[in-house]
Amino acid sequence: MKYCSHCASELTYIIPDGDNRPRFVCPACQAIFYQNPRIVAGTLPVHNGQILLCRRAIEPRRGFWTLPAGFMENGESTEQAALRETWEEAQAVVQLQSLFSMITVPHIDQVHIFFLAELEKAEFAAGDESLEVALFNEEDIPWNELAFPTVSQTLKRYFADSSAQQAAHVFDIGISQALAKGLKSSG
Ligand SMILES: [Zn+2]
Repeated sequence: MKYCSHCASELTYIIPDGDNRPRFVCPACQAIFYQNPRIVAGTLPVHNGQILLCRRAIEPRRGFWTLPAGFMENGESTEQAALRETWEEAQAVVQLQSLFSMITVPHIDQVHIFFLAELEKAEFAAGDESLEVALFNEEDIPWNELAFPTVSQTLKRYFADSSAQQAAHVFDIGISQALAKGLKSSG
């Protein structure tokens, strides 16, 4: 971020009055540009014990398998985002059941949320962002070809704890490393 989106002046990176961390601040119009984590919402679609996965047609991680998920849009709920992404990427209509995992990924400033979902009918197809979409038994999950750690962690926890009603898995990937890095870079 370099220029003010209101007046096009060059931004400074300073701690504003009353704040406790540096922000991008416009010296001309005083606008402050806050940067906060973005939310990725998706589903863990299950059909007769099989999991629906999508092979990505886009970067990053083109050709790798993922659960259907994507960035939330303004104005929608996390549930709506998960359902929309499942439709866009897998052309699948699912019934959301419960929050399954909520994973903080500090090194990319994202939070990933997956809902357990039931795919009632085995009806799906590759959307624009997918090369193919398929159902997998546990023993056939392509563990070495999964696109993202949050996907593999979510699947691992699902198969490790198959009792249907479980508390959501809330965890982070690499927060201690990120903290250490932050402490180091701040002196
Ligand atoms: Zn400005």
